Amino acid sequence: MQTQLKKTTLIVLPLAGLLLTAPVASAHDEHRAVHEDLNTEHQATHEDLNAAHDETHQDLNAAHRAAHTQPMTRRQHRRLHRQLNKAHRVEHQALNAEHGAAHQDLNAEHKDYHDFNQ
Ligand SMILES: [Zn+2]
Ligand SMILES: [Zn+2]
Ligand SMILES: [Zn+2]
Ligand SMILES: [Zn+2]
Repeated sequence: MQTQLKKTTLIVLPLAGLLLTAPVASAHDEHRAVHEDLNTEHQATHEDLNAAHDETHQDLNAAHRAAHTQPMTRRQHRRLHRQLNKAHRVEHQALNAEHGAAHQDLNAEHKDYHDFNQ
């Protein structure tokens, strides 16, 4: 019997979505512009992170497919999936850390603006 190539069962962990506080209704257009800039930057960061994430998934899927070209016992297959899931988790941690750092930068920039404009 042949090992069937099943759809991967990699766990999908959503990236932590921390959005900047929506601009407070403010009469200051400048302030709004700063928020728009920060949000644009934030969005670009997310696009980068998502692209990196997609790439990770493609790599993992390719590794999974490649492994399935060889005959495997159930046990070997389970081990393979454990390894793939672990690699996936590690990658998510790295992406989330990057995401968190990006948020800190953006928040610091935002805080600087407010401290400076008090
Ligand atoms: Zn993922
Ligand atoms: Zn974010
Ligand atoms: Zn598999
Ligand atoms: Zn603000």
